Amino acid sequence: MKKFDPSREIQYLKQFGEFGGVNPAITDSSTFTFLGAKTMVDTFEGEAEGCFLYSRHWNPMNKYLADALAAMEGTEAGWVTGSGMAAITCTILEICNSGDHIISSITTYGGTYAFLMNYLPKFNIDVTLVDITDLEAVKAAIRPNTKIIYTETLTNPLLQVSDIPALAKISNANNIKLVVDNTFSPMMVAPYSLGAHVVVYSMTKFINGKNDCVAGAICADADFINSIIDVNTGTAMLLGPVIDPLRSSSILKNLHTLHIRMKQHSFNAAFLAKKFNEVGMKTSYPGLPAHPGHDILTKMMNPKFGYGGIIAIDVGTAEIAANFMEAMQSKGVGYLAVSLGYFKTLFSNSGSSTSSEVPIETQKEMGLTPGLVRYSVGLDNDIEDTWTRIEESLRETGIIK
Ligand code: PLP
Repeated sequence: MKKFDPSREIQYLKQFGEFGGVNPAITDSSTFTFLGAKTMVDTFEGEAEGCFLYSRHWNPMNKYLADALAAMEGTEAGWVTGSGMAAITCTILEICNSGDHIISSITTYGGTYAFLMNYLPKFNIDVTLVDITDLEAVKAAIRPNTKIIYTETLTNPLLQVSDIPALAKISNANNIKLVVDNTFSPMMVAPYSLGAHVVVYSMTKFINGKNDCVAGAICADADFINSIIDVNTGTAMLLGPVIDPLRSSSILKNLHTLHIRMKQHSFNAAFLAKKFNEVGMKTSYPGLPAHPGHDILTKMMNPKFGYGGIIAIDVGTAEIAANFMEAMQSKGVGYLAVSLGYFKTLFSNSGSSTSSEVPIETQKEMGLTPGLVRYSVGLDNDIEDTWTRIEESLRETGIIK
């Protein structure tokens, strides 16, 4: 069977500008005029195909971007948000009512962790954290009121691999929605085609790839997207985390180069992961055959995009990590910065930055060590030269001899 090719789906979209521009025109309007009063009423009732009402609901430029993302994901529909957190929180609040229960991977992005553990108790929504690679633990955590199994395809920052088809099977058998954050692996993995019900993204990362904005996306079937933007009850419509159409336009243009960028990120990361391994560093990269999730990811992957651009290594302590990262920055390896998916290499010490919301005890439980340095490997044309600089930094800071 021919595997799904997300880049092809985007390539064959026909999205023209108003005057034939090759890029769709930005509609710089928050509200829209109606030539007939009845059409406005019909639009409010969701019965006027092709009419726009108000840009918190839909703006034509946001629709172009959402359509392109839905094509990439193989979903019927999509919706774009002002941040990845908006996509995650709106999805969860749309599915869950007060008194419901969520099963989540214990390793998730720190902001998601904080939302699940610190914010949802306000609504009496309970969360059980599990090792998402332990399918028996997932099954054992199911309660009659469980509404969501939440995970990331590749978890942040430990790079555990979620077995999406297996989790989908468990979800379907128990009438639970499987929500997957695919931020680390766009193009590489298409979670919806593997059985996920809702796919969420921080587009801030690889999808946009320029670190010039914060944005998010939700991809799902049309019923779910329609429910989330329902004018009377939809979480996204009522909380209003919409993205500016000017920004959607620039993200859409960047989306068209995502397939090339993912290949280069993967190529460079695979090279560095191998080198880290060779010099004896404790290295987590799903492209290494020794990675516990390697075989599962290999089965789930769309061809040709590689194993992604994120690597985690362990240098021992947070103090050594700080010295090492400063050394790498001064040698031009990249920037000491949070976030990922940028054209330059970024590195950070997860325990003291993007996962600092996670209590130390839980960090220990999930296996997040204080000396973990997460790399988002850039698009460097000469990755051997980058390695030389990293190796010098490792030696200078006494990590290797
Ligand atoms: N999901 C993952 C995996 C992330 O790494 C992040 C941010 O770092 C988010 C979601 C949140 O996205 P945003 O910062 O765009 O709100």
